[in-house]
Amino acid sequence: MSKKIFAANWKLNKTPEEAREFVIKFKNDVFKTPDFFKGKEVILFPSAFSLEAVSSLCAGTAIGFGPQNIHSEKSGAFTGENSAEVAQSMKAQYALVGHSERREIFKEQDELLDKKNALLQVLGLNPVFCIGESLAQREAGKTLEICFAQMDKGLKSFDKSQRLILAYEPVWAIGTGKVATPEQVAEVHRELHQYLTKNAFKNFQILYGGSVKPENSKELLAIPHVDGFLIGGAALQVESFIKICTI
Ligand code: PEP
Repeated sequence: MSKKIFAANWKLNKTPEEAREFVIKFKNDVFKTPDFFKGKEVILFPSAFSLEAVSSLCAGTAIGFGPQNIHSEKSGAFTGENSAEVAQSMKAQYALVGHSERREIFKEQDELLDKKNALLQVLGLNPVFCIGESLAQREAGKTLEICFAQMDKGLKSFDKSQRLILAYEPVWAIGTGKVATPEQVAEVHRELHQYLTKNAFKNFQILYGGSVKPENSKELLAIPHVDGFLIGGAALQVESFIKICTI
């Protein structure tokens, strides 16, 4: 059985100093528990300015990390963007792609996300590719149609023999405190699992994201095909993040 994944998306929060404080406290707390990392993978997604701080404390440990976004080209005249190649040189092993805030606020389209996923694969980094429907799309009964279309287009160039980490994040549940019901999560994860299997993806895990907290994480993690979480707000404090990671 593959490991459960607990990924923290810090969004535009934490200075490098605060990121360092988090990692030092996290390490102190979890290294007291023998086998804490057994059966699980922990990943931190700091903002770009704090990536170096996290890298200096996590590279070579059981704690994975990576940027929240990368440009679709390795390098060049793209002022203000962040390079996957630079993240790789900082020993990042993962990168978030297509978070709903990137899709909505920064208007990132599926075709662009496909390029980002493919570039990460070329560089040997694991994309954590985010998909999910809006409230209007759910209410119109289009949840699966939207998720399948996002995968069809955003994973068009993906080498299916390589590892894929997919994060299903219903947009209406992100940062709202409105968590999807276990029935809703179970249905979508079952369908996503079937889709990926049918489409010959060889090695994949499916995370749930959207208002995951210590109070709901156990129930959600017990749902079939929920292989872990992408966590925003509740991953900003060491205590609540550790509670969610404690299985
Ligand atoms: C996220 O940012 O991906 C997320 C799921 O946020 P939250 O846990 O705060 O809903």
